Amino acid sequence: MSAQTAPPSKKAIAASPTTPSDNRSHEPHETEATAHMNFNRITDEQFQAAADHLKLDPEIQLVLRTPYRELIVQIPVRMDDGHLELFHGYRVQHNAVRGPYKGGLRFHPEVDLNEVRSLAALMTWKTALVDIPFGGAKGGVTCDPTKMSRDELQRLTREFTRKLDMALGVYRDIPAPDVNTNPQVMAWIMDEYGKKHGYTPAIVTGKPVSLGGSLGREQATGRGTMIITREACRALKMSLKGASVAIQGFGNVGSWTARLVGEQGAKIVAVSDVHGGIHCPAGIDVTALFAHVKEEKTVLGFPGSVSITNEELLCLNVDILIPAALGGAITRENADHIQAKLVIEAANSPVTPRADEMLRQRGITVIPDILVNAGGVTVSYFEWVQNLQQFRWDEARVNDELEKRMVAAWQLVHTVATGQKLPYRIAAYCVALEKVAEATRQRY
Ligand code: NAD
Repeated sequence: MSAQTAPPSKKAIAASPTTPSDNRSHEPHETEATAHMNFNRITDEQFQAAADHLKLDPEIQLVLRTPYRELIVQIPVRMDDGHLELFHGYRVQHNAVRGPYKGGLRFHPEVDLNEVRSLAALMTWKTALVDIPFGGAKGGVTCDPTKMSRDELQRLTREFTRKLDMALGVYRDIPAPDVNTNPQVMAWIMDEYGKKHGYTPAIVTGKPVSLGGSLGREQATGRGTMIITREACRALKMSLKGASVAIQGFGNVGSWTARLVGEQGAKIVAVSDVHGGIHCPAGIDVTALFAHVKEEKTVLGFPGSVSITNEELLCLNVDILIPAALGGAITRENADHIQAKLVIEAANSPVTPRADEMLRQRGITVIPDILVNAGGVTVSYFEWVQNLQQFRWDEARVNDELEKRMVAAWQLVHTVATGQKLPYRIAAYCVALEKVAEATRQRY
């Protein structure tokens, strides 16, 4: 049995939150690896800190902390060489009191139920924070797309869609792209779903524009990250113009963040991908880097740059650090070496709770994922609205509406954080939890 055929690990299943406390133990030996295994503990701790601050009714907490539905499916795929490979896919629907389930699909070797469960909960808080009428969900397949052909990926995606069919729906659950999935994967999902249900573009967001995708969706998470970075700098009285910035990850989110933050006058001095990082103290020409990555499929070897490791990138002496790759990048093991003044969480869960505390004690401000990267789901909402109305918005309208939503969410969080002397993360959770709790009370 290859790594890709492994069933859901016992560890992942054992981490099921059957009781509120069973995954909230303090971890004495947290490493990057164990941080990955404990994503659900991370989001659970963050939820609890806000719930305690709000003195949230324990009955409401009970409902909000556990997912509504979890689906594990087997995905047999005929590989190009003729053998049958068995993959496992997940969809966790966390909460839908405010609207249909919404959240991305991730294709990655480390996807497991625990990680998907945690990411689904983040989506519930994120959609509430930016005040869009969706709940939270997440999905993924344990696979390594870098080792699969386009045809194999297409067969995997179509089989996964057929297996999820009973849980999806335009008013039930609407997937979107996440790590290693893209508009092409969304197009296959729409096409497969449509074979049974007829033309249904609103079943998925992040589609190619030619199939009903929204203008501005590809850039949306990066644009939202830029807006929050700009507002955070303003609040901290830091100048974004001329600020040095290091970005971990140069995929959809990292690359667009680099370009848009660069357009605000910041100096992007380092970026990285799964293969490693590059450092240019004088600043990177991001447009030239886009061209280099298109050709070479990695940031490495960019002319005029020095190669560094991902770990070195995180610890560079910069003004702003933007983790935009995977979760668990900043842990108790490297938190003391972070030199940035401001950490902008463009990835989901890049800072573990212990590292968060250590950064706070050292006066480093962390702006949380549920606020920073909410631009993607916000424009996904605009895409869904356009599909339902069968009316396309121009890009200026998309960007303008995104700007309004992101700034409004920032202002709410900033007001709570400064007014109640709370870290930005707890403030963001408080704003989100109150909205979801209120909708829950009205339904029960
Ligand atoms: P992507 O697949 O487009 O890019 C991921 C990037 O991270 C790539 O450059 C990859 O090489 C790099 N990477 C992967 N593993 C790494 C490692 N171990 N060390 C360093 N770099 C590594 O994914 P994306 O859509 O840009 O998502 C990035 C993060 O942003 C994820 O945490 C995702 O959940 C979050 N996010 C994405 C969106 C979206 O709209 N795409 C929205 C909200 C949040």
